[in-house]
Amino acid sequence: MIDTHAHLADKRFNSDREEVIKRAWDNNVEEILCICSDYAELETFSELLKKHDFIHGAIGVHPHDSSGYNEEQLITAINDINPSALGEIGLDYHYNHSPKDVQLEVFKKQLNIAKTRELPVIIHSREAMADTLKILKEENINNGVMHCFSGNEREMRECLELGLYISIAGPVTFPGAEKLKSVASIAPGDRLLIETDSPYLAPQPVRGKRNEPSWVKYILEELSELRNVPRDELERQTAGNARSLFNFNKK
Ligand SMILES: [Zn+2]
Repeated sequence: MIDTHAHLADKRFNSDREEVIKRAWDNNVEEILCICSDYAELETFSELLKKHDFIHGAIGVHPHDSSGYNEEQLITAINDINPSALGEIGLDYHYNHSPKDVQLEVFKKQLNIAKTRELPVIIHSREAMADTLKILKEENINNGVMHCFSGNEREMRECLELGLYISIAGPVTFPGAEKLKSVASIAPGDRLLIETDSPYLAPQPVRGKRNEPSWVKYILEELSELRNVPRDELERQTAGNARSLFNFNKK
């Protein structure tokens, strides 16, 4: 399995980070894409990438932090890390921690960096799907993933038309997540990714706990049931998709 979205440098892993990573490896997690969207985590993040061959990096400024966007700092980090993707970036109109217009501007700037560097993008979109899709179309973005997808079927189709992947996280396991379950059951297999978004969004069997990459298995199990596809086949397919989107070998 490949966990395509985990915040392993988050301080909530400070006390037992190496144990969490070992559990992931012991539970058949072959690669982890670790996301750094907070400069405070940068040092821990870059140490993790150096230490573990199966942990890869993505870096970008989260929409929450758009107000503090510093392009020079981002470019320096990209040059140092040589990441597998740029992200997570996007729009979050739920929290609106940064004003909308600033979020829009910073999102566009980072999409342009991704294009120049030929990096896939990891998109965070919360209660902002219309604007997100509009910008992705305007900027001709066709290389990336909608992380923790939460849209409807029509929005999924628009993302697929752009050429993007759909990544399914823990909420698909929640009872009552009917819209997401239905989207996850029909998303084309060659565009499907799985992720934990650790330490957030622990899946149903462990809901409320600190999430970790080894629990990506619960998402795979749920998808296997929803899609009526054997677990090992889905595992191969989603891992293959992750490897073709993110150039893990470049590290
Ligand atoms: Zn995230």
